[in-house]
Amino acid sequence: MIITVTLNPAIDISYRVNNFNINKGHRVENGLKTAGGKGLNVSRVLKQLGEQSLCLGFLGGQNGKWIKKRLEMDGMEQSFTTITEETRTCLAIIDEDHSTQTELLEKGPNVSEEEKERFLETFNQQLKKAKLIIASGSLPLGLEPSFYKEICKLVKEENIPFFLDTSGESLKLGIEGSPFLIKPNQEELSQFAGKELMKIEEMVEVAVKICNQGVQNVLLSLGENGAMLVRKDTILKADIPTIPVVNPVGSGDSMIAGMAYSINNGFDLKESLRMACACGMANAMEAKTGFVQPEIIKQLLSEINITTL
Ligand code: ADP
Repeated sequence: MIITVTLNPAIDISYRVNNFNINKGHRVENGLKTAGGKGLNVSRVLKQLGEQSLCLGFLGGQNGKWIKKRLEMDGMEQSFTTITEETRTCLAIIDEDHSTQTELLEKGPNVSEEEKERFLETFNQQLKKAKLIIASGSLPLGLEPSFYKEICKLVKEENIPFFLDTSGESLKLGIEGSPFLIKPNQEELSQFAGKELMKIEEMVEVAVKICNQGVQNVLLSLGENGAMLVRKDTILKADIPTIPVVNPVGSGDSMIAGMAYSINNGFDLKESLRMACACGMANAMEAKTGFVQPEIIKQLLSEINITTL
């Protein structure tokens, strides 16, 4: 069983408003409502790949109940920790006329000490049955930035691979826990380095330093430019073809799902990177977030070129 951890999930609502103007009222169709959160995207893609996973994290209030029901309807396994405060809502206004996307992202609930302890209890129990753990996204208020580092240590004690996909301070501290894999994009790696990284060589240099700190794999995603897998002993580069992009949101999460699937099924490094890229690309070709079609993945796999640097 693969476990995904989504500590600050959200109901994502998107409205299509052509010619969106601030300071004006707009009559709109009902918004498209989805159970959002990076870990939930990972779980959804894993399911499409035929791999069941268990979703953990915090859910509260009516929004929390809605997400729980939605996941149930989608046949996803879950064991969320119930909290007092309301799970957040995130709003996106998509204006196709102007190709803009305006977002309102709530900070989300505050998690109490007691709720954190209850989560850790569930996490420790489920850990015993897990083969791989994936923690994705930002932390809710109430959890200290070292929280991922804390759970990384628990996972390491069980000798299970831990994937960490986060940014900022929680990534910096998370790296100190020596996760099995991190997946920064160019912006996240630059933020970590404290300077804008433009060239591949600069990015690889930072990734190698991270590996020397104890992270086994740095999966560096480069959007339309493919990806790199950096390890202490190996550096692989994935060159990808141009694809018809519809919506790349969630491509990083889909990439993580592809990587987890590959590790879980004993693929070698090159094939794992190929599969990870194919999943990210397949997601970018769909309107829905965290959605891939296995037939398209199959086709893309043969078009990705992996080289050793
Ligand atoms: P994130 O969503 O975390 O920022 P990326 O945008 O780098 O991650 O996307 C992850 C992977 O998805 C990329 O490495 C690539 O394989 C694929 N992908 C994303 N955007 C595109 C795109 N515009 N064209 C082709 N592939 C893409």
